[in-house]
Amino acid sequence: MTISANIIPQNPVLIIHYHEIALKRGNQSYFESILKRNIWRRLGRFPKARVQHMRNRLLVRGLGPDEAPQALALLQKVFGIAHISIGTEVEATMPAMQAAAQSLVRGLSFESFAVRPKRAEKHYPFDSQDIGREVGSAVWEVSHARVDLSHPALEVFVEVVQGKAYIFAARAPGPGGLPVHSSGRAIVLFSAGFDAPVAAWRMMKRGLTLHLVHFHGQPHTDDASVRKARELTHVLAEWHGHIRLTLIAFAPAQEIIAVESPERFRTILYRRMMMRVAGRLAWKNRARALITGESLGQVASQTLANMAAIEDAASFPVLRPLIGFDKQEILDEARRIGTYDISARPHDESCTLFMPRRVETAAKIDEVREAESGLDIPWMLEQLMAEAQTEVIHPDWWVEGVSNR
Ligand code: ATP
Ligand code: MG
Repeated sequence: MTISANIIPQNPVLIIHYHEIALKRGNQSYFESILKRNIWRRLGRFPKARVQHMRNRLLVRGLGPDEAPQALALLQKVFGIAHISIGTEVEATMPAMQAAAQSLVRGLSFESFAVRPKRAEKHYPFDSQDIGREVGSAVWEVSHARVDLSHPALEVFVEVVQGKAYIFAARAPGPGGLPVHSSGRAIVLFSAGFDAPVAAWRMMKRGLTLHLVHFHGQPHTDDASVRKARELTHVLAEWHGHIRLTLIAFAPAQEIIAVESPERFRTILYRRMMMRVAGRLAWKNRARALITGESLGQVASQTLANMAAIEDAASFPVLRPLIGFDKQEILDEARRIGTYDISARPHDESCTLFMPRRVETAAKIDEVREAESGLDIPWMLEQLMAEAQTEVIHPDWWVEGVSNR
């Protein structure tokens, strides 16, 4: 059942459950504290919101009845959260739980229901079965609905934790995964196509802090790819919080490579140069990995041999979360995340200007190194880095001075 206005109490409490974090043993509290901080930042526009940790869940208090649904919608994009409910908090006594359940269901019409009790500790004068029976009969008194434990029209959750009881009737899904900022930092090679934003989203879901780098073809191209990269970054920021996007004018490097090296290796040499720039950014920003949107066999540069020849120039591990995805699966995910429409707009690739007619699909690392041996790579790298421009892109929910608290 979805959360409708008539089941939001006067003093709502958000009850936030996580799944994967709760399975961690030694370092559960590390993940919980990062999740707690991410939630708190996300609710910057509600200055009275307070987040409290309570045994495998987080509670948000201090929200008004109008604010609770807005806060819930924001939290549905916070990684680490399995589901969120809006409920009431009462003392963990049977009469208080019964009264809270009655006021929750009063005014709702439903044919059948189930009480779903949960007790975090064992020392109460009642057990889970008692809660089910007694709260169930209180709900029956005001609704006359029948009890159906397998397919109820309404579920009434009663969670007893540390002397309090939390009563709620619906659970909204969160995105799952691990909290952003819990796994370290990585640099994303961020083209303006479909794949790179989906790859970035996947790795953010595993808790990484992202720093994006986009290589563009200006002044030989217009600014379409840069505008797309910015808009895509903004979509990701809604999940991530503010993100750094570094823009690199890549045409000077392409011109040199196109003139100085064999045509069939061009694409690979461009990519090797991108890897080096990304590695330099990783080093400067204390990141520990590079992320690409590569998928095995998708295009010529993504054969096993070519990926190896490109990775040879990388000084950090290269993560490729989409390596085993079909294009259709990537497009479906892009739609779910909200990047599809932006990625679908046309733009001039930085590479097409200097595109080779013949593309190598089975590059040998030795040959590629040889092809590059005439280039002054350290100097090229310096030139590219000297022109780098870094922007910080904020999500819509960002509140000046508060969301960085
Ligand atoms: P996408 O759909 O993500 O643009 P693609 O299908 O165009 O990828 P390629 O052009 O082979 O495939 O790019 C593979 C990966 O290389 C991209 O997912 C991205 O990680 C990186 N990449 C390619 N072009 C750029 C660029 N201009 N700036 C930054 N990274 C890039
Ligand atoms: Mg691709």
